[in-house]
Amino acid sequence: SLTIGIVGLPNVGKSTLFNALTKNDVLAANYPFATIDPNVGVVGVPDQRLDVLATLFDSAKVVPATVSFVDIAGIVRGASTGEGLGNKFLANIREADAICQVIRAFGDPNVVHVDGKVDPAADIETINTELILADLQTLENATPRLEKDARLHKDRASVLAAAKEAIDILQTGKTLYAAGVDVAPLRELTLMTTKPFLYVFNVDPDELDNQPFTDELRALVAPAEAIFLDAKTEAELIELDAEEALELLQSMGQAESGIDQLARVGFDTLGLQTFLTAGPKESRAWTIKAGATAPQAAGVIHTDFERGFIKAEVVSYDELVDAGSMAEAKSRGKVRIEGKDYVMSDGDVVEFRFNV
Ligand code: GDP
Repeated sequence: SLTIGIVGLPNVGKSTLFNALTKNDVLAANYPFATIDPNVGVVGVPDQRLDVLATLFDSAKVVPATVSFVDIAGIVRGASTGEGLGNKFLANIREADAICQVIRAFGDPNVVHVDGKVDPAADIETINTELILADLQTLENATPRLEKDARLHKDRASVLAAAKEAIDILQTGKTLYAAGVDVAPLRELTLMTTKPFLYVFNVDPDELDNQPFTDELRALVAPAEAIFLDAKTEAELIELDAEEALELLQSMGQAESGIDQLARVGFDTLGLQTFLTAGPKESRAWTIKAGATAPQAAGVIHTDFERGFIKAEVVSYDELVDAGSMAEAKSRGKVRIEGKDYVMSDGDVVEFRFNV
């Protein structure tokens, strides 16, 4: 499954946030026999539609989609040249499918900043520079080999051309993802700046609803997504029951915890979407890549379902809720029969028919 790597300078609140993420781990609740990797936090993607479906179908439980976060430890200036965490760090980051940068924006003079002052723009620059330098090095190391390949095999010329273009872009200080390059020919090089980035700003709690402040930070990273949270508060929220947590959030002018926001935004950043199933056993959100077809979606539930796929009965969540029951949705003609070429839409409530 796809993962998001959490990176940031030392002392910005990564561990505090990651601890809250792992305490929120949904694996323990839903998959009692799963082995839990201490470096991975698997978080449920909040989805109120599941609660509505659970009421309609009298489901025994609700199973949300999940998103996995990997703790990649601190990045430091010079990481790209093997200083600090060096190669292990770079290997971990290469395995992630998206990169979540945690940026310090809280004041607290008791927490030392590695570069002496709280400066989110400078910190983002430091991290991006390290990632860009590491990619440049990878590309420059690969160039002689790619040149030889291109001489020997015509079909390898596109990889060399893409690598040269990538070097030019990185030298201007832009990430490859931000530059919108076609990453397909570069995939074999496992570059870091081809991955989507998202940003978590760790702010003081009284700044959470300070819009001029958050707008300014958001502008630093746009069009990438920005999430604002106070890692210390997230650590407290995780210890509270749902009602107390909501009270604390509301007292800070927030409707949702930072971790819930991070799960939702992270899921989108990975290019994922959900379809829904509902019945007395469970109401559940299943994860697919945007653009997946009905048989591919069936395959997420069970590999046999993809092979034996016959058809899908599909109703949109809104029309199902509008009708109030599956039977009523059917009698209104809202339940469609879809074949193997059907491309799934977000919010499809589905029942698959298949041969076993
Ligand atoms: P890491 O090095 O990025 O993993 O940072 P830690 O999570 O270990 O946090 C470093 C220090 O900053 C610890 O003393 C934390 O208690 C403190 N800290 C983390 N998040 C916050 C925050 O949101 N506000 C304040 N005031 N301190 C924080």
